[in-house]
Amino acid sequence: MISITTCRVCGGNQFTTLFTCKDYTVSQKLFSLIQCNQCSVIITSPRPEDETLGEYYQSEDYISHTSKANNLINLLYLNVRKITLKQKHEMLESITNQKTILDYGCGTGSLISYLQTKGWQVKGYEPDANARKIAQTTCKVYDKPQSINESFDVITLWHVLEHTTEPNETLSLLSKLLKPKGKLVIAVPNHKSYDADFYKQYWAAYDVPRHLWHFNRKAMERLLQLHGFVIQKIEPMKFDAYYVSLLSEANKNNSFLKFLKGFIRGFRSNLKAQKTGEYSSLIYIASR
Ligand SMILES: [Zn+2]
Repeated sequence: MISITTCRVCGGNQFTTLFTCKDYTVSQKLFSLIQCNQCSVIITSPRPEDETLGEYYQSEDYISHTSKANNLINLLYLNVRKITLKQKHEMLESITNQKTILDYGCGTGSLISYLQTKGWQVKGYEPDANARKIAQTTCKVYDKPQSINESFDVITLWHVLEHTTEPNETLSLLSKLLKPKGKLVIAVPNHKSYDADFYKQYWAAYDVPRHLWHFNRKAMERLLQLHGFVIQKIEPMKFDAYYVSLLSEANKNNSFLKFLKGFIRGFRSNLKAQKTGEYSSLIYIASR
């Protein structure tokens, strides 16, 4: 196990232990969350060694690595994905006229294959062999970050940065691959959201130990600054409040009421966020 003693976002070394979360998806093991006193990023620590992290993705239920719905929640996810693909496309069109894109951590490639049909020049990177195989049927997908040898107008990370072992290394690399006037788009769960605060250790977006870093606005702003980026715009991902609340209900008490309770909680989270801006997940659009 690896214990984090220096914060990668701000260099701080004072932490507060928050609580212990369970890996509900794969191992059923417990992992601690600690919070940096300075920049407020939350860290899964201690966490498994890099070589064994792959084992925690081995589940038929791990939806980003499959395109099959084997249960009701995953079926909902795949249907909502059709709507969110359209929204992501519209958002990307609104921030740039240049249409070369790298989707870093593209999973099964649903976004890049959709964008390709809209005239974008697309590439992906995906470390998981099974997901990559599906994505490669329509697009060029790299298997290693080091082998990406071209530059892009837009680089997107949809729920990816929280999975990286060293977010600074990832951002350094992406900074080199992004054209000077390019846009960096990073979507991550927001631990300052109402649903995070309500569900605490049951909050599905902690998703330990697959999620290693848990951001909020302050921590993300600081991390991006380190790499010369300024946040231009922050957009909500409103469906995430429902999806995450539903999964959190299942974590807490897997009763048949989870659909109703999760829906109500998700609705409330979005309602509160209209005032605070603290949606369940946020999309940060940054440039240099
Ligand atoms: Zn920090």
